[in-house]
Amino acid sequence: MAESQSLHRRGLMFILSSPSGGGKSTVARRLLEEDGEIAMSVSVTTRPPRPGEVDGVHYHFIDQAEFDRMVEDGELLEWAVVFGNSYGTPKAQIKAGLKAGQDFLFDIDWQGTQQLYQRMETDVVRVFLLPPSIEELEARLRGRAKDSDDVIRDRMSRAISEISHWDGYDYVVINDDLDDCFAKVQTILNAERMGRARQTGLVDFTRNLMAGGS
Ligand code: 5GP
Repeated sequence: MAESQSLHRRGLMFILSSPSGGGKSTVARRLLEEDGEIAMSVSVTTRPPRPGEVDGVHYHFIDQAEFDRMVEDGELLEWAVVFGNSYGTPKAQIKAGLKAGQDFLFDIDWQGTQQLYQRMETDVVRVFLLPPSIEELEARLRGRAKDSDDVIRDRMSRAISEISHWDGYDYVVINDDLDDCFAKVQTILNAERMGRARQTGLVDFTRNLMAGGS
């Protein structure tokens, strides 16, 4: 097995986006549970924690002054203001992880996705989940909690504006059935892992294979 030990894979940045109601959180959670090779990229945010959110697990919760300092010092790979709060991806951990072969899952918006793609195109895989219909989207947004019609209308208009960014992604998966959608997302991840450009050591590996056959 000496040959295969020289093979190494650079990690990839797997970006999963969807409008709310598109199924992103569920698919992301399952991916983290079931795939042993991918870790969540934990963002910094100025938004206050919601009940149940843990600092350092869901986000690194920081104030605006610290956020501005990180931007100023070039410590963020990308950042954006979403619904009035600042969000960003810390650079150090991701860069070192990718080099070591660690894959990262990103839950970031379309603006951050664009920035990551511009900076690190070859490392980025962009997946967008869509609801099967507008009626289904509304049913999902309504089913979640007993909110007023105004709140639902607001969520719907945000979701529709998020959907308009679908063409900035490499893959689009319609989330009609959750198991089916999850299986498709897993397939994308596994196929991308085998991309020739992501594997180093292939020249020596194949040379050894071919030498063995002579
Ligand atoms: P929430 O506050 O509900 O956790 O997230 C609000 C939005 O911010 C979501 O669309 C989420 O994808 C996005 N978001 C979270 N972290 C980041 C980040 O580091 N960068 C960018 N660009 N968006 C983020």
